[in-house]
Amino acid sequence: MNGKTSFFGCKRVAFFGLGKMGLPMARRLHDAGVPVVGFDLSGPARDAFAQSGGAVAANAGEVAERSDVLITMLPDGKAVRTALLGSEPLVAHCAANAIVIDMSSSAPVGTRELADELGGRGIHLIDAPVSGGVKRALDGSLAIMVGGPPEVVARVRPLLEVMGNSIFATGAVGSGHAMKALNNYVSAAGLTAACEALQVGEKFGLDPVVMTDVLNASTGRNNSTEAKLKPFVIPKNYTSGFSLGLMAKDLRTADDLARHLDVPAPFSEALIALWEEALDELSAAADHTAIDAYLATAARRHRRAR
Ligand code: NAD
Repeated sequence: MNGKTSFFGCKRVAFFGLGKMGLPMARRLHDAGVPVVGFDLSGPARDAFAQSGGAVAANAGEVAERSDVLITMLPDGKAVRTALLGSEPLVAHCAANAIVIDMSSSAPVGTRELADELGGRGIHLIDAPVSGGVKRALDGSLAIMVGGPPEVVARVRPLLEVMGNSIFATGAVGSGHAMKALNNYVSAAGLTAACEALQVGEKFGLDPVVMTDVLNASTGRNNSTEAKLKPFVIPKNYTSGFSLGLMAKDLRTADDLARHLDVPAPFSEALIALWEEALDELSAAADHTAIDAYLATAARRHRRAR
């Protein structure tokens, strides 16, 4: 890899976090000809990227040093802050004017603070969280919500266009993360209602497949009725690829945002209480569609005990 600026407007992209989402996103960049080097704390995650022909680094600092763009696709904003400013801080290696794109679903207030801290060191931070899950990460059709100064966003837009096909400028830094948390709140509400409705309907004698068809042709339709009930919930395989722990984190982020802004959000509070109970009963690693299993068993037990 030479030091010339690539067609994508950057010399080299460091991609941190090669998990369920990061791996297919980094692969798309690599396949499109972007000079990308991947890094993950997990050896098997690094191996998976290397097996698909991607370059991987064993040393995060060394990757950051030679990259003008750093993408983070980590579990949450705390992990992003630790990677950038923790005990082995990536910022110590970043070139002046480097751009960090946090594509994780991080907390918006923390993102604003981090952007200020990095700005003081001459490093730009923009937030560009995604929606669409593993399937849309694989085919590059993610929705991407981008917060940050327009001139910085413009510099990395060609990279974002490799990973997503709906790219929304949401405003100042942090606004993408606020939008993402609120989107997932609405998404989790739709999933929870759909699972509950199916369980009530089934007990009354309705066929869940017929119910799903009716919902999808009626006003109850939402992303979960369209994309999650038949493949993951009705067969009870719970394999969508997005964990319960990460969804609960997003719900907590949305609820914290409402509190921070002093906006009453009673439905959000009820929903987060239910998902946190599910987290205690199941595990953070369980699939988020397993909220259905929680509703079917544990929630019923809780109701009897009350
Ligand atoms: P994941 O747990 O599969 O992957 C996270 C990866 O980050 C892991 O491989 C972990 O080893 C790595 N990691 C943690 N700290 C690191 C560090 N300091 N340096 C390098 N690597 C590090 O999670 P995921 O499902 O890929 O989700 C990633 C982010 O995307 C989360 O914020 C999640 O909320 C969001 N998201 C997920 C989905 C989905 O469908 N899975 C969809 C949209 C958004």
